[in-house]
Amino acid sequence: MTVLNHNSGTTSLDIETVLVTAGRDTAAQKGFVNPPVVRGSTVLYPNADALHAHRGEFQYGRHGTPTTKALQEALMALEGPSCAGVGLVPSGLSAISTALLSVLKAGDHLLVCDNAYRPTRNFCNGMLTRYGIETTFFDPLIGAGIAALIKPNTRVVMVEAPGSQSFEMPDIPAIAAVAHAHGVLVIDDNTWATPLYHRSLDQGVDISLQAATKYIGGHSDIMFGTISANEKAWPLVSEGIKLLGVCAGPDDVFLALRGLRTLAVRLAHHQNSGLEMARWLAARPEVLEVLHPGLESHPGHAIWKRDFTGASGLFSIVLKPASQKAVDALLDTVKLFGMGYSWGGFESLVIPFDCATYRSATPWAPGGPALRLHIGLESVDDLKADLACGFDAFNAA
Ligand SMILES: *Cc1c(COP(=O)(O)O)cnc(C)c1O
Repeated sequence: MTVLNHNSGTTSLDIETVLVTAGRDTAAQKGFVNPPVVRGSTVLYPNADALHAHRGEFQYGRHGTPTTKALQEALMALEGPSCAGVGLVPSGLSAISTALLSVLKAGDHLLVCDNAYRPTRNFCNGMLTRYGIETTFFDPLIGAGIAALIKPNTRVVMVEAPGSQSFEMPDIPAIAAVAHAHGVLVIDDNTWATPLYHRSLDQGVDISLQAATKYIGGHSDIMFGTISANEKAWPLVSEGIKLLGVCAGPDDVFLALRGLRTLAVRLAHHQNSGLEMARWLAARPEVLEVLHPGLESHPGHAIWKRDFTGASGLFSIVLKPASQKAVDALLDTVKLFGMGYSWGGFESLVIPFDCATYRSATPWAPGGPALRLHIGLESVDDLKADLACGFDAFNAA
């Protein structure tokens, strides 16, 4: 459902203010600051005339409610003027699959960044292959060299900047310029930076996705996805959402909007603590390399500085060569860093990973065991002390 941003006349407001006010319709909310959690399937029409004409702001629960409208308006304001519409779906992976199914057809060719989220790869190699759509994975650092991979039937290029384990930073404007010259659409999984720190729709991306499970929700208590699109792609995405019948549950919509209200303060804290921890880790003798685009030493730092206005709290480290036993001793010793998948909540996390088990276009040989860290909202002094204990156990093992 396309909704207009009722704050579009006040574009001079700073983004922090937009995040707090956009999508708030105080009169419709009868004075309350937050919209009601509208649970609904049926919408009653006032008379036969309205029924025949499908007249009315809302027509059926799956197509939208006052709760979804509030969140969509707020997300559109966050994405900026290039955004023509936002779809709400039940998970980040559903945002990926829904977007791809909305724009692809049998016989098409798809290009996907080799550092993409692993379930994206599984969806392409699984269901899309069965539907007669061919995927080629490409080097995330390919830039304008993507031209060599475009075939007459190439329909979409999908990027993730940076990759959420290996953190290579694709040059999205360079890739988008080549793609558009060939009539190819660009999809970006923008979960790491969120539209607050990366306005991908302003940089040539046609469809920008979020696993709103992560920073939009921000509290590790929902599964949620959003699909934002520009004027060119929104009609396809909107139709795809309608045909597939995907929609999000009312409680999750409400929690996503509640998370969005505090995104700016949370993300600033994740950024600052993340950078401080990254610098501290870079100075540790056990660490070979820190993979954080916000660090001057990162190969993607110049692109990050050019295209992003901030960094979130997720990055990786490569340890000096060590046994599995030593790595496990670290993992079993840390207490504030929980071991678990997902990220973007208020809590710190650590997970070991090995991209070599699934990458197909580029090698992954970082020179030692790799760990991904999410820096939460705890005190950085406590987090450093916790990791220092972990390193003691690592060294002793
Ligand atoms: C988590 C994640 C997803 C999938 O989101 P879910 O809500 O878990 O389905 C997609 N892309 C990236 C980069 C992610 O980290």
